[in-house]
Amino acid sequence: MEIRAAVTREAGRFSIEAVDLDEPLADEVLVRLVATGMCHTDLVALDQHMPYPLPAILGHEGVGVVERVGPQASRVRAGDHVVLSFAACGHCPTCQAGRPAYCQTARQLNLAVRRPDGRCAHHAAGQPVSAGFFGQSSFASHALVRERDAVRVRGDVPLAALAPLGCSVQTGAGGVLNVLKPSAGSSIAVFGLGAVGLSAVMAARLAGCGRIIAIDLHGTRLDMAAGFGATDLIKVDDTSSAARVQTLVAGGVDFAVDATGVPAVMAEAVAATHRTGTSLMLGLPPPTVKVPLDAGLLLGGRTIRASIEGDSVPGLFIPQLVELQRTGQLPFERMCKVYPLDAINEAVRDCRDGSTIKPIITMDAA
Ligand SMILES: [Zn+2]
Ligand SMILES: [Zn+2]
Repeated sequence: MEIRAAVTREAGRFSIEAVDLDEPLADEVLVRLVATGMCHTDLVALDQHMPYPLPAILGHEGVGVVERVGPQASRVRAGDHVVLSFAACGHCPTCQAGRPAYCQTARQLNLAVRRPDGRCAHHAAGQPVSAGFFGQSSFASHALVRERDAVRVRGDVPLAALAPLGCSVQTGAGGVLNVLKPSAGSSIAVFGLGAVGLSAVMAARLAGCGRIIAIDLHGTRLDMAAGFGATDLIKVDDTSSAARVQTLVAGGVDFAVDATGVPAVMAEAVAATHRTGTSLMLGLPPPTVKVPLDAGLLLGGRTIRASIEGDSVPGLFIPQLVELQRTGQLPFERMCKVYPLDAINEAVRDCRDGSTIKPIITMDAA
């Protein structure tokens, strides 16, 4: 069938093209996408800082309606509303232990460019197009995904608003609710107020944290954090943010979250915790980068933890997040701005200059 897709042929740009897409095989399902969130990792791949062979279709926060299913698919049916999430095999020891974000084949599955049988499902002008980014490649009118990576959600909630659940909201909210599990009244500092950090702020409020300190360079993001429940705001300046956190909570906070992936900020997050506090790294710097940590911080009983995708089991966690959004307890739709597929390059521009926190690309035919 012919679909419309944002194809990346050169670093930094999308072009909207007609693409031929094969029918679903085996456990694949064909999803008619309603919307797809734009996430930082899309931009990293768009700029080719993360190698992903071009031409390619990116996008990994898709939501849509199942249109057809492959002969071995049994968990979802045509007409189901689904939120697409990251890919995991489902049967390695780590997946069986309920930790699919750390699936032993996560890298191969999430950076796949072809189907497991080696064939490409997408072609443009007769040439193969890489697809399968995070199991999705959802900057398109349709995507082929494995059914286990499509999470069925209730059909009476507007789908487009749910797009960021598949990655960034799941990461930020999951980091707090699944990993840190703060007790009511505890203190938390969140460094970096993009979609992940703001989701962490919302989750901290849900968990009943008493002090929620939000830290960023931009006043508009601090204002948004205040609306999501932050009790204290720190606009980054030349002084140490960790020291400023400690003027608000003597000795340091119980929990700190880094949502920047900037090494110096990651070190600040650790330094903001007290001697038995826990810091959680949700941002991803390039793999060989060193984090400049003072050894003195290790003299206490601090815990430093990293998490991918908020340690989520998407099939369980995403429906919970839908309920929280639906009942106004996790109003992440407030940080989103909608762009039609034809305006995807404008969404990239606004995402880069910080004027939009979370672009949602909608797929209605122009
Ligand atoms: Zn696995
Ligand atoms: Zn992402």
